[in-house]
Amino acid sequence: MDLFEYQARDLFAKHDVPVLPGKVIDTPEAAREVAAELGGRAVVKAQVKTGGRGKAGGVKLADNPEDAVVKAGQILGMDIKGHTVHKVMLAATADIAEEYYVSFLLDRANRTFLAMASVEGGVEIEVTAVEKPEALAKIPVDALEGLTDAKAREIVEAAKFPADLHDQIINVLKKLWDVFVKEDALLVEVNPLVKTTDGVVMALDGKVSLDANAEFRHPEHAELEDAAAANPLEAKAKEKNLNYVKLDGEVGIIGNGAGLVMSTLDVVAYAGEAHKGVKPANFLDIGGGASAEVMANGLEIILGDPAVKSVFVNVFGGITACDAVANGIVQALELLKSKGEDVSKPLVVRLDGNNAAEGRRILTEANHPLVEQVETMDGAAERAAELAAR
Ligand code: GDP
Ligand code: MN
Repeated sequence: MDLFEYQARDLFAKHDVPVLPGKVIDTPEAAREVAAELGGRAVVKAQVKTGGRGKAGGVKLADNPEDAVVKAGQILGMDIKGHTVHKVMLAATADIAEEYYVSFLLDRANRTFLAMASVEGGVEIEVTAVEKPEALAKIPVDALEGLTDAKAREIVEAAKFPADLHDQIINVLKKLWDVFVKEDALLVEVNPLVKTTDGVVMALDGKVSLDANAEFRHPEHAELEDAAAANPLEAKAKEKNLNYVKLDGEVGIIGNGAGLVMSTLDVVAYAGEAHKGVKPANFLDIGGGASAEVMANGLEIILGDPAVKSVFVNVFGGITACDAVANGIVQALELLKSKGEDVSKPLVVRLDGNNAAEGRRILTEANHPLVEQVETMDGAAERAAELAAR
């Protein structure tokens, strides 16, 4: 989960990384009071989960509280690389002498953590990495040893930070490492880390990505989730513990096993080319135990998507055999009907694998008016696309 800058700032403050005071708001008017609290002058910063806000005009300096209202008004509603600005952060200003870059991240390819640092910060680090790789120090950090004093010193020396700042930057690195480890982050990045004209080192912009696999250790992270951005169908699916991703097509997809669902998306997209370009409407993996309840939950989400015109249920029987899945489908349709759900979209079902023949017999016998069976995956994809295109 990627955090907004203001959330990263809060986590930094919690772990004593030096940051400037700041507050997030969502109306221009609210800027007046906050700017006054911050001493009149303030930086107004767009809160969107993308970089390059400065270049896009999403970071503006306000000279006084009235000016802060104007600047917040200009930035709120702005579009930055496809992200609409709904919130701005007002922060105290700093007189910047120099801008640096530091980060900790998980380096999957090398199976280690990695520290990166550069005296050329403030700019897009991806550009520096390509155009001037010698300006970006990369030092692996052993997961078991962590950030020792010696390692922190190695980083500041490799990045060639000014000698008089070494102790301050080492301190910042150790605090950032605390954020990285204690919050279970995959990325902690500061760009720019600045030296002020008074010679003080501070984190002015933070980017933090938290590890979703560690959510269970951090109930407090739940509130960091951006509920406004979450798709309502995805939110509902999450509540029901379904592995669901909304896509922008018309053919609803249910399958068992992530690999099978992925290839189902491909065959449906391919079949759709000949049928008005219809595409998959979602990814939904109901996993191994395709019980009636799980099937009903999955169907409910998919049928509740107004974009869906047909549904393709693609099941390869394994540990859960096809007869159990077929019974699940029949019961799920009854369950939804008894709940008063609108079950009016055609379902194309393909059953293969363990007990396929028995599964097909159960569906044939149930003779549900909306359910159609096709024996092959390609054939079923073709039929589902055709129905969606009608
Ligand atoms: P990004 O462009 O999305 O990475 O946003 P940043 O938060 O990094 O801001 C972009 C640039 O705005 C920084 O590199 C600084 O040069 C400048 N900036 C940000 N905060 C301040 C501040 O408090 N005072 C001054 N003078 N400049 C700032
Ligand atoms: Mn930045």
